[in-house]
Amino acid sequence: MTVRLHLRRIRVIDVVRDDEAELVVEVADSQSVKRCPSCGDRTAKVHEIRRRRVRDLPSLGRPTTLVVQVRRYQCQGCGHRFTPEHPELAGKITRRLARQLVSDVRKLTVRELARRHRLGWHYIMGVVHSWAETVGAQRRAERCRVLMVDETSLRRGHRYVTVLLNGETGAVLAIVKHRDAKALASFFIEQGRRWCRGVEVVVTDGSESYTAAIVRHLPAATHILDRFHVVRWFARGLIEVRRHLQRREPPGVTPAFDPEVFRARFLALKRADRLDDAERARLEAIFAARAELAKAWAMLQELYGLYAAEDLAGAEEHLDRFARMWEADPLPEFYRVASDIIRWAPEIFNFHRAGRWSNGRLEGTNNLLGLLKRMGFGFINAANFEARGILLIQGPGP
Ligand SMILES: [Zn+2]
Repeated sequence: MTVRLHLRRIRVIDVVRDDEAELVVEVADSQSVKRCPSCGDRTAKVHEIRRRRVRDLPSLGRPTTLVVQVRRYQCQGCGHRFTPEHPELAGKITRRLARQLVSDVRKLTVRELARRHRLGWHYIMGVVHSWAETVGAQRRAERCRVLMVDETSLRRGHRYVTVLLNGETGAVLAIVKHRDAKALASFFIEQGRRWCRGVEVVVTDGSESYTAAIVRHLPAATHILDRFHVVRWFARGLIEVRRHLQRREPPGVTPAFDPEVFRARFLALKRADRLDDAERARLEAIFAARAELAKAWAMLQELYGLYAAEDLAGAEEHLDRFARMWEADPLPEFYRVASDIIRWAPEIFNFHRAGRWSNGRLEGTNNLLGLLKRMGFGFINAANFEARGILLIQGPGP
């Protein structure tokens, strides 16, 4: 009975057990002449052989264990004794099993993997961590031209973390605890000035706290406020107007709740150029009797124009029209929208100045991170979330 392991530089010595439950194979390094690390002479003199068990990929569904002959050599030139490491068999599991675990952890929970491979949860998490560390370090060593900074919570509303992504590749660079200037600044300090100078564009989601760290550590980068975030701000004005309209009449007089307006609440947030004829007619009918809502809608459309515009000049025209409309009739519901725009104007218009970058391009990565969170039923440990987030995309590296 022969067993083929397809492992490089491995010789099968003996099949210890080969039945339905398990495969156990005794193996040895096929290279029997080694170079002495002390004097450089070659030697084949084995001083001592020990045996070590190493788990490998399952074979035909059975757990497979390699009993590895670990040889301790003695140099004939200088007498030095040494034990060479085999590249595939460095730890408790083969390198290819580690690679498989790291690849599977993107689709399965650690608990499921532990069950399938009959390995401990903590052991697998340790393998995942060490791979993620290597992959993450490699990624962070490379230049990142477009940096995306996103906050998320490990559990709904709890334990916030800052996710740092390479905007060009979608790869997670790091996930650091907290969502404040200090968290971001310590990441930049860790990365060093050379790396920071390489960042040309940074996209954030509009939290003031990040701005301080960006101004300080990425002074040369163009800071863009993420458009999806800003569009949510814009929509707030119209939503407020709609809510006020619905509640305007005292209960009992006329319906306090205007079902027609309520049912069109998502339609009213659509971009005008994306409405079909029927949708347009429906909105027009609603607006005919509700002038305030019509005004709010027209103002919102100008704000959408900030992004729909092809260039900076076009965006400025839309802002100008919005400003004039608001001046003519300053709907109080748009007060906060206007003040947010004034406060963040450079970061909003930088969208047109620096390549129209947006986190929306990384929807894939963000969705996967979301799935990961749900799959893990909320991570308690930010480090575990980081390790798995790093391996999520374009892993495994080494
Ligand atoms: Zn030697």
